[in-house]
Amino acid sequence: MDSSQSQPQQQSTNIGSSTGSGSIGAESLSSEGSPPLWRFVTRIEKQGAVGGTWKYRCNFCNENRTSSYSRVRAHLLQIKGQGIACCKKVSRADKLEMQKLDDEFENKKLDSGPREVPLPSESLSHLDSDAMFKKRKSEKSPITRCFGIETRDQLDQEIAMMFYTGGLPFNLARNPHYMRSYTFAATHNIAGYKPPGYNKLRTTLLVQEKANVENLMIPLKSTWREKGVTIVIDGWSDPTRKPLINFMATSGNGPIFLKVVNCFGEIKDKYFIANLMKEVIQEVGHQNVVQVITDNAANCKGAGS
Ligand SMILES: [Zn+2]
Repeated sequence: MDSSQSQPQQQSTNIGSSTGSGSIGAESLSSEGSPPLWRFVTRIEKQGAVGGTWKYRCNFCNENRTSSYSRVRAHLLQIKGQGIACCKKVSRADKLEMQKLDDEFENKKLDSGPREVPLPSESLSHLDSDAMFKKRKSEKSPITRCFGIETRDQLDQEIAMMFYTGGLPFNLARNPHYMRSYTFAATHNIAGYKPPGYNKLRTTLLVQEKANVENLMIPLKSTWREKGVTIVIDGWSDPTRKPLINFMATSGNGPIFLKVVNCFGEIKDKYFIANLMKEVIQEVGHQNVVQVITDNAANCKGAGS
């Protein structure tokens, strides 16, 4: 028998010592995470190896029943239409009290989120508390505590979880902004700071960054008029084998990436390429363009003619 099974039995024998009283609150042997209303019935025998069906005696009406927790709850909270008779001996005050416990439990369930996976450090401590009557000893050395090694480990795990659960590529760890954001947070006193949420990222911050990039391009574009622009076109395939065509504009102060066109499903003949070229030349301003450079693929050569 594993510990998860022995725990509820332990609980039911404890409550069994004061059966029949129907009193509430005297034995509040609530174990974290277990449904709260089990403690108002006396569990006699578990039915089946798996699942949560028990034979039990109601502490209020003393009737024996067999059901799962949801029906225990319906019986005690007098919820009709749940396939079990409502308890007739539960007083109004009892019901209020149990309703409160039930609400708390349901809220907690919602808060914690059913799909939340505990961090490695958390699951260790969880196991520790589950091993009943085991003395919890602090294994942390003063040095560990002093340098916050545990806190660092926990942050590491939290970051790793972000990668795993968000499906982020490990390459992101090489992104300098990734490193810089955490270093910044660690070295500045910004208690209570919350990272930008879904909406802020896709609205305010995105608009801000776009404006920033456009500002940075102003000096590059400044020479377009007097020195002229060269459009450089290159075709390539990305790792997912999408056929892409890059358009760059280069001038006295350096090149600018203009756009990339995904040509999947298109016939890349000379007319198609020529049309793309026309569009780009219009975007840059035809009076600025002095030449177009392509590779010497036949369709690109043809587009120039
Ligand atoms: Zn009852």
